[in-house]
Amino acid sequence: MERDDVLPVLYDLAVTIGSEISVKPLLTRTLQRLLYHTSFSAGFICLDVPPCRKADGQLEVRLDAVVGDFDLIGVIGKTIALPCALICETAGPETGQAALLSALRCAQTQYRVYLRLPIDHCGVIVLLAVERPETKLPLTTMLQPVLAHLAKAIMLCRNNDAHTSGLINQRDLLEKVFESSHSGVMITDAEGRIVEVNPAFTRITGYASDEVYGRNPNLLASGRHDHEFYREMWDDIRTSGHWEGEIWNRRKNGEVYPCWLNINPVQDANGALLYYVGMFSDISKRKEAEAQIHQLAFYDPLTDLPNRRLLIERLQQAFAFGMRSGQHGAVLFLDLDNFKTLNDTRGHDVGDQLLSEVAKRLNKCVRDGDTVARLGGDEFVVVLESLSSAPDEAAAQADAVAEKIRDDLSMPYLLADYTCHTTPSIGVVLFRGQQQSLDEVMKFADTAMYQAKTAGRNTIRFYDPVMQAAVEARAELEDDLRNSLELRQLELFYQIQMDNRNHPIGAEALLRWRHPVRGLISPAQFIPLAEETGLIIPVGLWVLRTACAQLDTWQGDELTQNLTLAVNVSAKQFRQPDFVAQVRRTLAESGAKPGLLKLELTESIVLEDAEDAIAKMRELKEAGVSFSMDDFGTGYSSLQYLKRLPLDQIKIDQSFVRDIVTDSNGAAIVQTIIAMGEILGLNVIAEGVETEVQREFLDLRGCHAFQGFLYGRPVPIRDFEARLKEENNVRL
Ligand code: C2E
Ligand code: MG
Ligand code: MG
Repeated sequence: MERDDVLPVLYDLAVTIGSEISVKPLLTRTLQRLLYHTSFSAGFICLDVPPCRKADGQLEVRLDAVVGDFDLIGVIGKTIALPCALICETAGPETGQAALLSALRCAQTQYRVYLRLPIDHCGVIVLLAVERPETKLPLTTMLQPVLAHLAKAIMLCRNNDAHTSGLINQRDLLEKVFESSHSGVMITDAEGRIVEVNPAFTRITGYASDEVYGRNPNLLASGRHDHEFYREMWDDIRTSGHWEGEIWNRRKNGEVYPCWLNINPVQDANGALLYYVGMFSDISKRKEAEAQIHQLAFYDPLTDLPNRRLLIERLQQAFAFGMRSGQHGAVLFLDLDNFKTLNDTRGHDVGDQLLSEVAKRLNKCVRDGDTVARLGGDEFVVVLESLSSAPDEAAAQADAVAEKIRDDLSMPYLLADYTCHTTPSIGVVLFRGQQQSLDEVMKFADTAMYQAKTAGRNTIRFYDPVMQAAVEARAELEDDLRNSLELRQLELFYQIQMDNRNHPIGAEALLRWRHPVRGLISPAQFIPLAEETGLIIPVGLWVLRTACAQLDTWQGDELTQNLTLAVNVSAKQFRQPDFVAQVRRTLAESGAKPGLLKLELTESIVLEDAEDAIAKMRELKEAGVSFSMDDFGTGYSSLQYLKRLPLDQIKIDQSFVRDIVTDSNGAAIVQTIIAMGEILGLNVIAEGVETEVQREFLDLRGCHAFQGFLYGRPVPIRDFEARLKEENNVRL
């Protein structure tokens, strides 16, 4: 051992010695540490070595501690005769080893070398090695300071042991209890190192006592509790002197199990902390039984779905949630249309298989927080939560899930040796909080389901006729919208944009749907539906194509050749991975000048995935297209992200323009927006300008482009062009 290595060894030993309070562990741990740092493989300690030498050169000694050798451990506590030299003389490793070592009969063949370390007058440590240890410094001198320290510690610990030995009988008794207890017992010292465990501990945890001595009890931790849990536990122990509770631990084989744990600190007469005692019992069996009872009480054994009882509980929770959040929920009551016939003709086995499969499909149709329950027979109930607070929208959402369920359950079922078909009838009731009682809601759903059956099965019916009408109208609108493109019912209207000298600078293309029955439908009504159904993609492309074709036509006329055309782009449309390519292709095919096409985006489009939006905008800008931020001021409007966007224009939302003259707040917002535009070098246009007063206010504050009823409503192309000519004639 090198000189530099010595300091950590001494330190480690000193710490070891200083932390023990009883002789036996003190000796054992000292030996352990010595072997750990040196190249000796075993060692023993004898205390109270008799001073006199016997005539035959032999000495009767008792091995008080042994480490590293199983044979020697067998004679621990017994008296054996050893050569005096081994115990008393300062014999170096060289002298008479063979003779001395052969006295250790139990292990005589192994050891070749020994080293003797006297512990002052207390006793002696003998270290044994199989080969010559690589000890450069004489360990005897090197360890002298700690050996003196050890001698003192032995004295102190003996006093302590003597003090406690008065309680020896009581301890015998306690030891028996400890050994035979069914509860696991684990004792740690004040620093939380395990010093004792009982056989039940080993039985429960799988760890032998040797494997845990000196270790921290967190080796049992399962990882299921967070830091906070343990912090609270220790807080409790410190403040109330006790902790009791359920905790998940991990066995040596990795298995996680629940146990009931009690922790109590043990103090000496002066209140100084000596030990912590933990007692625990394995409660996994009890838990399993509880879980089984719970499963039987709350779940349907065939499908594993919640049963009626759990459904009621979940519904109560859903009602309470609806009360708090103001959101709607829905109950879908469903029944399989031809189940009884199938059950009667094909037998219960087939019926059961079908029901299990239906349960699986239902679970796939709903979101995580929703409930699918089986009431019995072929009746199932689905509870949807967190639907919209607007009744129409909530009805549409519930309807969408009901339709998905109807479609999925109508697919063929491949049972073991039979393929079968069935369809559901579904009754739907919306609820919000406790407006109706739970019984009522269930009754309504049931009634609605019967209406669905009467209406011809494989059908969805809302209990509320208004809802039913709303859902039907929506479904009809959706169908019509699907056909609108083919039937050429869509049309673009054009609304003029002016500068402050009353010169037309461009137009915004606004979509209209000329419905054969309903007349002209506003985009505010059908754009959201188109977004939801994905129809916005073909519709958006049609708008773009029509607008570009118009731009190209305008090239041929002096009056229109410099007009820009603004086209609204919706979120879903912009998010398509090939949106950039679509615009490029459309421009190329139409022959329109890209510089005259302006795309109007909204803040939400950009915020959703800023990086993607910026990349797409850059590419299109390179192609010459420009961008305007529509409805500006209604969203985030943060300078932070605005700075990063390659925009050309911001469009002040009409709600601010409307209030400009009446509301000082509105006026302030408009001024701020104009200032923002200036800072960012963007041009600013105001939409919804209806009065001369509004126009003047805006113009005076630096916004010199306008769109609104003051100049004209959105009109068909023929009216728009006629109007341009008229104005031109006036000017001429
Ligand atoms: P937007 O892009 O903000 O369009 C401006 C809306 O304000 C238009 O409604 C226009 O008619 C209306 N407006 C214009 N001037 C005035 C005015 O002085 N006073 C008032 N009160 N209103 C005025 P419209 O045409 O009903 O369009 C509504 C929204 O539908 C548009 O808002 C836009 O978000 C969307 N939209 C329209 N066409 C399309 C389209 O082709 N694609 C997409 N994705 N959305 C479109
Ligand atoms: Mg717009
Ligand atoms: Mg707008």
